[in-house]
Amino acid sequence: MPVKVIAFDADDTLWVNEPYFQETENKFCALLEDYIPHHTVSQELFKTEIANLSLYGYGVKGFMLSMIETALTVSSKTISLDVIEKTIAYGKELLEKPIELLDGVEHVLSSLTNKYRLVVATKGDLLDQERKLKKSGLEHYFHHIEIMSEKHTSDYSKLIKHLDIDPSEFLMIGNSLKSDILPVLQLGGHAIHIPYHTTWAHEKVENKVEHANFKQVAGMAEILAFV
Ligand SMILES: [Mg+2]
Repeated sequence: MPVKVIAFDADDTLWVNEPYFQETENKFCALLEDYIPHHTVSQELFKTEIANLSLYGYGVKGFMLSMIETALTVSSKTISLDVIEKTIAYGKELLEKPIELLDGVEHVLSSLTNKYRLVVATKGDLLDQERKLKKSGLEHYFHHIEIMSEKHTSDYSKLIKHLDIDPSEFLMIGNSLKSDILPVLQLGGHAIHIPYHTTWAHEKVENKVEHANFKQVAGMAEILAFV
């Protein structure tokens, strides 16, 4: 592999993320159970989040606004201010979650940092991701941090240009086939998928990926066999 730059997704690749969102969503749905069943709140919230994505982008702040909007919708605007206050508090708790690194992350980064240029390529709120990276203690391994509003082919193309390399010299590692793997393969880059035990519905793809530049491993430590 003639790779020069290895880029890592952050959420659910370097550290735990989706389980914290799910925990918050469960608490939010429980708050609204007097109005409608848990499952229905969950569906309504997902619909609202997707409708708001192009306005708010990814991350906790957009999630908070979507929860408030959902509370207003499902209660036909009869929700108490107490519920709104609790929802905001849940969002703030989510922003202050500790950083829990996934297995093998520190070992892999320290093994690769002198051999490649390492980069973080993540979606999410700018301030939140910067704070998480600082708290993670991993910042010093990376040459460059790219906080992206989307992870489409054109976004990776810009990043690769900025890094001044050819797509074939770029390797992306992440837990989302849709955001971390498929667009990079499409550009002629390399990609390693590390599935996480749970994935946000919006990031799910059903297709099986088969590509000469693609590998899938069970855990972070396994990527050392390929780089
Ligand atoms: Mg991720």
